[in-house]
Amino acid sequence: MPVSVSYRRDRRVVVVGAGSNGLICAIHLARAGLDVTVLEHAPRPGGASRSVAATLPGFVHDHCAGFNPMTVASPAMRELELETEGLRWIRPEAIMAHPFADGTAISLHHDLERTVASLERGSPGAGVAWRGLIERYRPLADRLVEAILSPLPPVRHGVALAAALRRDMLLLARRMAGSIEAFGLDVFDGASRPTAWLSGSAQHSGLAPSTAGSGAFGFLLVLLAHAGGWPFPEGGQQRITDALLAIAAREGVTVRCDAHVEQILVRAGRTVGVALRDGEELPARDVVTTISASPLAAMLPAGALPDRLVRRLRIWRYSTAAFKLDYALDRPVPWTAAEAREAAVVHVGGELRELAAAAEAAQRGDLPERPAVVIGQHTQFDPSRAPAGQHTLYCYAHMPRRYNASDQDVAGLIEDQLERFAPGFAGTVKGRAIRNPAQTEAENPSLVGGDLGGGTYELDQQLVFRPAPELCRHRTPLKGLYVTGASVHPGGSVQGMGGRSAARALLADRRLRPWRA
Ligand SMILES: Cc1cc2nc3c(=O)[nH]c(=O)nc-3n(C[C@H](O)[C@H](O)[C@H](O)COP(=O)(O)OP(=O)(O)OC[C@H]3O[C@@H](n4cnc5c(N)ncnc54)[C@H](O)[C@@H]3O)c2cc1C
Repeated sequence: MPVSVSYRRDRRVVVVGAGSNGLICAIHLARAGLDVTVLEHAPRPGGASRSVAATLPGFVHDHCAGFNPMTVASPAMRELELETEGLRWIRPEAIMAHPFADGTAISLHHDLERTVASLERGSPGAGVAWRGLIERYRPLADRLVEAILSPLPPVRHGVALAAALRRDMLLLARRMAGSIEAFGLDVFDGASRPTAWLSGSAQHSGLAPSTAGSGAFGFLLVLLAHAGGWPFPEGGQQRITDALLAIAAREGVTVRCDAHVEQILVRAGRTVGVALRDGEELPARDVVTTISASPLAAMLPAGALPDRLVRRLRIWRYSTAAFKLDYALDRPVPWTAAEAREAAVVHVGGELRELAAAAEAAQRGDLPERPAVVIGQHTQFDPSRAPAGQHTLYCYAHMPRRYNASDQDVAGLIEDQLERFAPGFAGTVKGRAIRNPAQTEAENPSLVGGDLGGGTYELDQQLVFRPAPELCRHRTPLKGLYVTGASVHPGGSVQGMGGRSAARALLADRRLRPWRA
């Protein structure tokens, strides 16, 4: 069918999903003059970047994401200047503590020398090694982030990084491609406890410490701690979404909630709109989806993409599930280790072999006896999130996506771990909210099986394989369909680069901006 002039002038675009990627994509498209509607399954926008009143009145809990090292490092977020919308970052100095069962802990501070001192106390020699590493790479942290988050191939940032690092580039590439366990044992000369301290950060992604590629996650997060820190918004993650919504509204973006997209409509070899679950059809020349691979496959009519690509999306591997607990506490957690009482984040899990056992059990489909738990103590730094003198506790552990146990039993495993490192924890609890993997997926169908990352970050699902060479740069073989979100390079976390890059690809195709996507 010949494309008519009016068709070429059709400015309607639908963005599927009102998470950070969807909102950022919509903002860029609207700024270029397109007529953008964001369709959102949930009753409220924000996706995995929201706050909720999950426990008791006056307590504000981060529903999914809790910390924002990638957000503040991301060029896509920085350029939007969310601070001018009223967002205020809180940047704890004591960033993370990793306690051990003997009551000691190693802590991560924004200040390198305090971190070096803590590592030296835990394992003589480890701090000195850490200082050498961070002094070498910290000046390049921004370039490293841009190389990781940019569309593939990241030529400009990659070349700049290689020029700055020279021979060290190969060393860094080797360590990042390997496991975080190998990275730590290499840097710390075989010392296990500092390696456990480093590995805890890679486990945010759900990767076991021995998995190839976990080196990149763990190191990047800890490097960012020494660069921009692990900040979070005063008042909760919702503030990020609210700031994005305010900008989107000014640009004329329409956001419709309770609007579950069931199918992408295709005619004559290109997208013509979407159909909602209730049967309503919304015409649009272009469609950008931000949802993860397997629900995307289910939305495509037969023949819309080559079979091999649809199969790739359908068999996309999701990782373990985040089992989420939020607490309202009447006082701070009584951690045995003083370092854990001061830190914004606590990695509960103990020794390296225990972290590995927890991750491997969950990946095999077994409930870990001693789960590795990510804890957030926001109210130590942000009293606005709880009534005076009281506290929230943010908590998740990686569990199998399906298990034969009650939610109470799974929560019990996590609470046993907390009692191990903080005897008397149970006595501080006034209220508790549990979110199991099935609830997480029902609330946000993109988080399949409760996987927080939109698919495992093992190496065969990274870079051009996220999710496939034909899709990793946001275009697809179907005219008018663009993809982004956590299943597409550069993957998850609240950083919005995929949303920006997808918008740029679409705008370049429509010759609306001289951007190179
Ligand atoms: C428990 C947990 C902890 C996390 N911790 C952190 C953290 O501390 N820091 C960090 O940076 N990242 C963290 N993340 C990851 C981060 O939140 C996500 O990677 C990021 O928010 C993804 O943004 P997105 O816009 O791609 O997708 P999402 O935010 O998931 O948005 C996708 C949207 O699409 C909607 N949707 C799905 N299907 C449809 C449909 N058919 N029709 C219409 N709408 C649909 C969903 O409801 C959702 O609103 C965490 C995630 C989880 C789950």
